[in-house]
Amino acid sequence: MGGALLVMVLIVAAVNVPFALTRMLPTSGAFPPATVFLDGPEAAEKGWPSSTPHDVAWSDPEDWQLTPSFGFRRYWVSAPPLQEGKNGFVMDVQHLGWPLPAIEVKQMWWDWGNPQLSGPESNPAPTLVPLGVVVNPILVGVPLWGGCFLLPCGLMVLRRAMRARRGHCVWCGFDASELAVCPECGRAGSGMMGPTHT
Ligand SMILES: [Zn+2]
Repeated sequence: MGGALLVMVLIVAAVNVPFALTRMLPTSGAFPPATVFLDGPEAAEKGWPSSTPHDVAWSDPEDWQLTPSFGFRRYWVSAPPLQEGKNGFVMDVQHLGWPLPAIEVKQMWWDWGNPQLSGPESNPAPTLVPLGVVVNPILVGVPLWGGCFLLPCGLMVLRRAMRARRGHCVWCGFDASELAVCPECGRAGSGMMGPTHT
């Protein structure tokens, strides 16, 4: 059973990241329209959907949009600039994978002229999200294992218990009440105790 669990988790682990990649949309393509729109204090409360790259904190978001679908969440979030008249902040993030994101694709824009905001250029290459890479195989693999192995075992135990209760052979279901050995399958067992009274 433990081996089956490990195999199930490993299978899901092998599928986890490739599946997440299939959910990725090209950043140049037309995205499905956002279905969640927040602005003002609600947007500020949500905050940035991923880490910001500078020591200085980015302004609070004032526009926060989300496009969710199965294994796919795209956030488009913007905030006003630190200095008036300059470029504000924009973060465009895809979180891919299920149930947790295993891949992140993040594109960011800010006021490149501000020395406080100097740093590495935004890199839109897909990156692994460690939490999703590690946890998704467990979140999916354990219930799958339960459904494929534990459930049939449970049903078998239940069926044997019902046969024993009726006084039937627990192995084959033959009506072998009061007999020490089943005449149908020739097996004796703990279930051969005759009908129990309810
Ligand atoms: Zn039998």
